[in-house]
Amino acid sequence: MTDLAALREHIEILCAQNSIRIGRHSRGGSASRRGRFINIRPVKSAITYAVALHELGHILGPWQSQPRLYKEAGAWKWATENAIVWSAVMQKTMLKSLNSYLLWQRRRAKYVRLPEADHEFWQLIGS
Ligand SMILES: [Zn+2]
Repeated sequence: MTDLAALREHIEILCAQNSIRIGRHSRGGSASRRGRFINIRPVKSAITYAVALHELGHILGPWQSQPRLYKEAGAWKWATENAIVWSAVMQKTMLKSLNSYLLWQRRRAKYVRLPEADHEFWQLIGS
């Protein structure tokens, strides 16, 4: 496993290269495309690294002008493609997050817009 300093530095480099600021450190991650900043927990583990990449994916990744599930999947797709390492625990973090959004969407409304059957979303979520 790459050491944590390298993971932290990778997030800093990605932010610098893409003119994205780390707005503030907070428990739940969030991202502002317009403001070009992300709010993340300090990168101190594979999980916080994965979540930081995911938040960057909300600015730099695909499908961000589409409905929520697509956005979340796009941000994770970008995270997996840009990580210097993608470990089992990072994969688990992604699956947990995507599945919780899927569950939430399915409970929520009569008119749920799930990604189409051949959408990459379903590959990411592993079904
Ligand atoms: Zn997200």
